[in-house]
Amino acid sequence: MPGSEVTKTHCPYCALQCGMEIGPELAISPRSDVPANALPPAGGALCQKGWTAGELLTNGERLTAPLLHGEPVTWEVALDYVAYRLSAIRAEHGPDAVAVFGGGGLTNEKAYQLGKFARVALGTSQIDYNGRFCMSSAAAASIRAFGMDRGMPFPITDLDDADVVLLAGANVAETMPPFVRHLTGPRMIVIDPRRTQTARLAWLHLQPTPGTDLALALGLLHLAIAEELVDESYVAARTTGFDDVRTSLASWWPERVERITGVPVYRMRQAVRALAAAGNAYILTGRGAEQHAKGTDTVTAFINLALALGLPGRHGSGYGCVTGQGNGQGGREHGQKADQLPGYRKIDDPAAREHMAGVWGIQAADIPGPGRSAYELLDALGTPDGPRALLLFGSNPVVSAPASEHVADRIGALDLLVTCDFVMSETAALADVVFPVTQWAEESGTMTNLEGRVLLRRQAVAPPEGVRSDLDVIAGLAERLGHRFPTEPAEVFDELRRASAGGLADYSGITYERIVAETGVFWPCPAPGHPGTPRPFLDSFATPDGRARFVPVQHRPPAEEPDADYPVYLSTGRVLAHYQSGAQTRRIAPLVQAAPEPFVELHPDLAEQLDIAAGDMVRVSSRRGESKAVARISDAIRRDTVFMPFHWEGANRLTNPALDPLSRMPEFKVCAVRVERDS
Ligand code: SF4
Repeated sequence: MPGSEVTKTHCPYCALQCGMEIGPELAISPRSDVPANALPPAGGALCQKGWTAGELLTNGERLTAPLLHGEPVTWEVALDYVAYRLSAIRAEHGPDAVAVFGGGGLTNEKAYQLGKFARVALGTSQIDYNGRFCMSSAAAASIRAFGMDRGMPFPITDLDDADVVLLAGANVAETMPPFVRHLTGPRMIVIDPRRTQTARLAWLHLQPTPGTDLALALGLLHLAIAEELVDESYVAARTTGFDDVRTSLASWWPERVERITGVPVYRMRQAVRALAAAGNAYILTGRGAEQHAKGTDTVTAFINLALALGLPGRHGSGYGCVTGQGNGQGGREHGQKADQLPGYRKIDDPAAREHMAGVWGIQAADIPGPGRSAYELLDALGTPDGPRALLLFGSNPVVSAPASEHVADRIGALDLLVTCDFVMSETAALADVVFPVTQWAEESGTMTNLEGRVLLRRQAVAPPEGVRSDLDVIAGLAERLGHRFPTEPAEVFDELRRASAGGLADYSGITYERIVAETGVFWPCPAPGHPGTPRPFLDSFATPDGRARFVPVQHRPPAEEPDADYPVYLSTGRVLAHYQSGAQTRRIAPLVQAAPEPFVELHPDLAEQLDIAAGDMVRVSSRRGESKAVARISDAIRRDTVFMPFHWEGANRLTNPALDPLSRMPEFKVCAVRVERDS
């Protein structure tokens, strides 16, 4: 019985999905059998978010009754009302007038069901999710190069034996501390405009001007070619397109790259020589490299470097993306993305449409799509051609979307906003209807971690009275729209397995029982007896000819650069104590104590120039809005840059929604701002 014994499950937060046990009285402890966070002989580890996750379950701000215009109502009243309004809006404006917005923290079962609900029950093409804001550039670049995107296409424990690991824009020491246990052996090279906690652990820290990672990656590859460090036999045997890339790099000589990035040539040389000399080396990218209007090309440039050095697809070396959200990987595989169907299939692929039509019992021609990407969807809300109603699951875009005041205005123009939340998030506070839903340890379901390992989160406690699962919300609305959807996670997972069969992300051989017995199963796993695929590229890549593709890319400046009006770069990121929009962690007392308020980090020279002292209230303005936060003075940041964490309302009022042309990722990581003491 949940609550009376120890339950083995996983953390509610990030993509490491640390294994944890929940015992009586909600006592939390790390598991020692989950490789992501257990390292023999030391055993398991959790970060402070994981240790305090039990407090989420008993939080006094839990919602326990559906709210209709702020008033508690029964589930039947709320579901009837929403279904009635959705039907009326669809009848008047057409199916695309209803939009669905999902999240990278939802279980695979919910992500799958949400995609099916949008396309089958609502008939809308307008579905996307907040993972678009997370790792979509790395996904697009990986698909372009390897034919498949599986975050880190190797077990995390492979890093333990590496000689060198280059981390481009990934501050794992703060975002997922147990990850660092896998980096104690290798020499670490960190690329980050800030001297982050991770950079402090590095053997070499390259500190480029914000928005110039792409130029830096081009410069590193230029040097590798010039110093004859390219693994020519690997390039000949396993790749295509290198000659075009070699030609495209001719003008990226190191001194030019130094002028653009501010990174000295000798440091670039140190980095590339160390990578090339290593027996085993990895290049990993995170949001710092990816969240740009050129994020796909930036990641592509790092993949080109990895390919030239012969790393991907070899046991002990490789390229990987350090995914952020808890189910950032699985969330992008099962159909809640505007351009995809389950199994990581493209929605405009006729064969994929036929397959899904068979699983869903509809005609392929009736599957809509592709729809708008996340920011474009939010930007279109309430406009004459845009959605009039929005159903929001596991997301808080009023805090997490770029140009967030504009997004809040667009949400305010809707005829109907419905959210599923377990506490009153900033976005839920704007909703016509809020459904109070279960959270991690109150339900079961699968998550796919940053390694592509499918894990089972198991129910440990009963939900509070009045609370139901997102799957119940979807099924309740579907029923009122004339469709039967299951509510049991295991039943949904069985359908997901059939839906994924034959796709890139093939889960058909994975069962809950296997996940428990094997402590996770790596996809693709196309048959019950299949062992799963920890390293999918060892023999060949997922391209038609089995070779990885070099793709020529060129650096360009950020969409917005400092000028006379907005003379400083702003970069955003995370702090150890908080997660994403902070809707969960800002309600946990020890985490609030550790990081109570938003701040602006600025260099002592810039602070002196602006007459700002530590602790002053500072006003930061961009072309999109204004935000206030407390000043922190630190020489860990460049003189031309300020940093703000995005866990509070404020940072994203400033950020730039310029989009990557391929991934549609907004440019969260760099924009121009003005900084003043708030007197
Ligand atoms: Fe592990 Fe991430 Fe949870 Fe921290 S937040 S305990 S690193 S899964």
